[in-house]
This record gives sequence, structure tokens and C-alpha cells, in this order.
Amino acid sequence: GGEREFAKETVRTTCPYCGVGCGVLASVSSDGSVSVSGDPDHPANRGKLCSKGTNLPDTLGLGERLLHPQVDGRRVAWDEAIAAVATRLSDTIAKHGPDSVAFYVSGQLLTEDYYAVNKLAKGFLGTANIDTNSRLCMASSVAGHKRGFGADAVPVTYEDLEEADLVLLVGSNLAWCHPILNQRLLAAKQARGTRIIAIDPRRTAAVDGADRHLPIRPGTDALLFNGLLVHLADNGLLDARFVAEHTAGLAKALEAARADAPSPAHVAARCGLPLADIEAFYAEVATVRRTVTIYSQGVNQSSQGTDTVNAILNVHFLTGRIGAPGMGPFSVTGQPNAMGGREVGGLANQLAAHMGFEPESVDRLRRFWNAPRVADKPGLKAVDLFHAVEEGTVRAVWVMATNPAVSMPDAARVRRALANCETVIVSDCIADTDTARLAHIRLPAAGWSEKDGTVTNSDRTISRQRSFRPLAGEARPDWWIVTQVARAMGFTAAFPFETPAAVFCEHAALSAFENDGTRAFDIGGLAGLSDAEFETLAPAPWPRRVGEGPTRRLYTDGRFFTDDGRARFVPVTSRPPPRFLEPGSLMLNTGRLRDQWHTMTRTGLSPRLSAHAPEPCLDLHPQDAAARGLTDGALVSLSTPVGTALARLRVTEAQRAGEAFLPMHWTDRFTASCVVGRLVDDLAVDPVSGQPDLKRMPVTVAPYPAA
Ligand code: SF4
Repeated sequence: GGEREFAKETVRTTCPYCGVGCGVLASVSSDGSVSVSGDPDHPANRGKLCSKGTNLPDTLGLGERLLHPQVDGRRVAWDEAIAAVATRLSDTIAKHGPDSVAFYVSGQLLTEDYYAVNKLAKGFLGTANIDTNSRLCMASSVAGHKRGFGADAVPVTYEDLEEADLVLLVGSNLAWCHPILNQRLLAAKQARGTRIIAIDPRRTAAVDGADRHLPIRPGTDALLFNGLLVHLADNGLLDARFVAEHTAGLAKALEAARADAPSPAHVAARCGLPLADIEAFYAEVATVRRTVTIYSQGVNQSSQGTDTVNAILNVHFLTGRIGAPGMGPFSVTGQPNAMGGREVGGLANQLAAHMGFEPESVDRLRRFWNAPRVADKPGLKAVDLFHAVEEGTVRAVWVMATNPAVSMPDAARVRRALANCETVIVSDCIADTDTARLAHIRLPAAGWSEKDGTVTNSDRTISRQRSFRPLAGEARPDWWIVTQVARAMGFTAAFPFETPAAVFCEHAALSAFENDGTRAFDIGGLAGLSDAEFETLAPAPWPRRVGEGPTRRLYTDGRFFTDDGRARFVPVTSRPPPRFLEPGSLMLNTGRLRDQWHTMTRTGLSPRLSAHAPEPCLDLHPQDAAARGLTDGALVSLSTPVGTALARLRVTEAQRAGEAFLPMHWTDRFTASCVVGRLVDDLAVDPVSGQPDLKRMPVTVAPYPAA
């Protein structure tokens, strides 16, 4: 990819950070400096960019880049690096079988990269041990969608947010994590008086724009929505016709909800809120039909994430608030291509094109790819995958575009596992990530501004990322690297790709292969794009079936993707927190800041972005600070059963008493003393989605140095 003439034109591309997926106009001036602005024609952002998008030019220097392939610490030519990867993977499989290799990839990859690596692993190496950092992000939403809708297909569009009368923000600091979407919501509020209710233990920036804030005890969202289900049902506030014609399973879900949330008083006590607040919330939701419920990491990153998603979906099904303007549940994704990864089967429990491991899907894929060895059972999900590396059952792991040595729970354990692993391959743009330090083979990947392909944002819109600068050093796009390795392993016929367009078209054709037109993910209408059409592809939502135009909102006819076309209520019983507090300890919550992204490998390079929060701060309620003799600005030490950290204290009423908050971004490269992944254990995981609980870890906080 990347053969265009550079710097002569303004290029339309897509922001590489969050799941809003804003369109960016980028250009390079004659002195090489890059300027960016929001693309006024992109449906996600209509010309706006947030602080992270605006400061993208600061992140494009070559200083931190991995510029040449390296094998065992030696700079080598690409041929040698490709041969080394192919040989080590082949040898490992020959000796120990296909499941002795694994891939840990990323929502930063473009769909074409993601498709190629999934095809190699699941189709030709015969292992489904390929999981993604999206496991830490929205795996619970995927699982909840499948249970409720019969497919992982988000109902709403961004426009629905602007047509709603009521927006519930559940565990979502939209103002910092999806800033442009939050701006659209606030503009709608100004224009039409949209009411916003924020349900979040912390008083976040998103709460500033809300009319009502319910600072619930962490992890009690499922109970709150169970109580809402009971309230609506018992007060005759259900859409009886929708329930009768388009759903199944209400009686059992209601029975479970009644047992779980027998009264608003019970809910209030468990959620840690006044009864009047619960009653007022239930009354408001009862009376407003056009309701969008946005949820994000506060819901997903929990050992009860999937059930919480279904508790939210249940309320929308009961009231028929789905499939019409201004209503529906809406999981907003963290990463630029979390959705694209789901489309190509980027999770260990999926095959490509939204297929599962049913025998007919495995067979369909076998025939489409002409691949004799398609994996026929799910692989290891992220936490289990690194445990297998530690145990030595996985002996070769290829990490692409992510930094698990920092971002996984019990990151110290992940580091030990990688340090002892026979073969660690890392492909990344950045030379010195905490994970790349542990690699035997390092492959320089093309970065944003250099690579071409597609990403899919939170409302299913597929957008082009386009290159506007030459590849840095010897960096290459990930799909190209995978293709070369596949050919070196003997799979030449299956990897004929010379352009990202070729990969995309195969992906699109697979989505429509033997499809009777009823599968959710179908972009068969884009399968025949020429290189020139791919080049000019305008943002397009899926599904995009052959012979049909784009579909925006889903479920408008009340038909879902289950066998009988009915949405499924799921019985939910809320559970206590996965870890218990010792006397004197606090519950540690973790999350993002406005101006940083993930482990700061890019945003950490921008002085303007770093000015917002120059160092990691621990937020504590004044009462908890006073009880420990701590004052604002003091240094504090944090400790949990798996690790310790050092941070500066910020005393704030925005924090609930008994709880603490620490941002997730810092790493050894920026301040070795405060790595969130080293504080949170990897023992609490959602049983359905495999998503780790990163938001409820008991921690003790003490003055530093100790008195
Ligand atoms: Fe980029 Fe997200 Fe900001 Fe848009 S809202 S500019 S996609 S970080």
C-alpha cells in the first residue's frame, strides 16, 4: 500500500484513536510538516476533531519508530526476518501442534490486517489462538448482543443520539473517551432539550453535561436495570405488542429480575443511593419513549459485563425501544477498529464474517478459503492465552500493535510469561514498547499516515484510512507482513494479496458467500470494488448487501438475527463484587484520561496532550484522604496482592468515599512507578465473554515514604 503521490493533495482519512471514527483531512506542506482538520463531509464528526485528533501531527516523528526488522537483536533484511518468523512458527507447530502458537492482536489494526492474520491463524495454521486487546474493551458487549439480538449487530446510529429525548450514559465518560460524540449529544441537548442521565460511580466530565447523576456503587448496574425492568412491567409500562410479536423469554427474565430486585428500596440500598433518586430515575425512564442507552467500559470491563449488557437490552425489548428513530441500546467502542476486528473474527471465539464455530460455518470457511485445516473449536481468550504462554503450552506468540506487558491485568505475570517464551514476535510502529523489549523478532509496521485500508466505527460505518506520507524506514503494512509470512510457510495460493483493496474485497465476498441474505454482517455489495473504487470509497455503514443501498438503523421491522427472528430476553441475577475489601482498603477503579490514548506510545509524544495531566494521579474522596493523613498533592504508595505503585494524590469530591481511581495510561517508558496493569490481578473474568474486571481491585493507600 501507499503508492500515491505524497504531499500534493489533501487526503481524507480516519482518526486512529477512538471508536467514534472521525474523518480527518490531512496534508503535508513542502517543509514536511503535517496539518490536520476535521472532515466536514464525514458523517461521524462533520468537521470537528477532539484534542487527540487535533494533535495527531505531534505524534508522527520518526524518533520513536521501529524502522528496520530485527532478529535476536540484529538488524536484518525483510527476507531474513520473514524467513525467521516462518521457520520458527513452522518448527513450533511441527513439534508441538497448531495450538502451540498464538497471536495477540489489536483494535488498532486495519480490517485488512486483521483479516489477513485471522486467515493465516484460523484457516492455515489451524489454531484459533488469536485474540485481541478488544477482549479488554467490548467483548462483553459482543456476547450480550449475540444473546439478545442473535448477532453482534449494533442497532443504532449516531443520528439516533440526536433524535432521542432521553440518553442514559451507563459506565461511560463520553466527554473524555468519545469527545466528538459527546459534543453531538450536547448540541442535541441544546437544540431539542434532550435529557441526559449519567450512571457512574464517579462524577466524570460527562456528568457535567447530565441532568441527573446516579453515583452508584461500582458493579451494581445490572441490579439497577433489573429493578427498572420490574418497575416498568409492574406499572403496565411495557410495549405489549412488541413483546408479543418480536421477543421471547420475558417471563423468565422478569422472574429473575423480581428475585434480584424485589423493590426500589432494595435496589437503592444495594446501589448505595437514596430511594428517592432511584424512584425518580425509574419514573423518568418510564415516561420517555425515545431513549438511547449508551454503555461503555464501566459495563463491559466487569466480571458481570455480559449480564449487565443483557439487563440493559431487556429494558429496551420490554418497552419496544429499538428499531425506530432516537431509541436503542448503544455500545460505544473504545478503539478505532474494534468493530472491524469483530467483523473478521478477531476474537478467539469467532470465525470470520461474524461466524461462530458451528460445523456448517467451519465447513463454509473451509470451502471459501480452500483451507484444509480451519480451526474447528474456539481458541484461548486473552487472559488464558497468556497463562498458556506462562505454562509453556503456547511456545510462540506474535503480538501485533498492542502492549500487553502493560495493559493486561497482572502485567507482571504477562512479562514473566513473555520473558520465558521460546519465540516472541512483535510487529509495531514503536521501537521500544514494554512488550517489544521482550521480543526475539521485531517487525516494523506502517503507522497512521502511511497505511491504507479500512476501519469500522461504533455505529457500523466503514471508513477509509489513507496514506499521505511515505513509509517510515523499512516499515510495511501489517497485511503485507502477514502475507509474506504466509507465503514463506507455503500458503502462496491463499495469500495472493498485493493491495489492501484485494484483502478487503475477499473479506466482503466472504460475508456474502452462501448467505441467504439474512446474516447480520453482509457487505457483499462492496465485494467487487476496483482499486480505484476502493481508493475513493466514501464512509459506508454495514450491512451493505448485493444490490441494496446502505442500511442505517437495524431491526426497523422488528426482526432480529435469531433463528425465529425474535429478540431474546436474558434472565440476569446480579452478583457481588468478585473481590472483597479488607478493612482499611479501598476499591480501585481504572480508566482513561481525556488527552492520552492507551499506553501513550503516541499521545505521550505530544507536549500539548501531556500538559492536561503530566503525571498519574490517584483520585480519593476527602474523607478517605483525611483518614490516612493524606493531603492533596502528596505522594502515595498503592499496594494490591499483585503489585505496588506510586502516584500523586488528588483529593476530590468527584470520587465516591471508599473508592479510588487511577488512570490506565502510564508505562515503564514514562514513569515506571505507576503501571495499572501491575496492580490489578487477572483472576476476575466474565464467565461468558472472558473480559477481565479491571475496575474493582482492592487497594491500600498509604503516605510515601512511609511515616
Ligand atoms: Fe479521534 Fe475519537 Fe477524538 Fe474523533 S473523538 S478526533 S475519533 S479521538
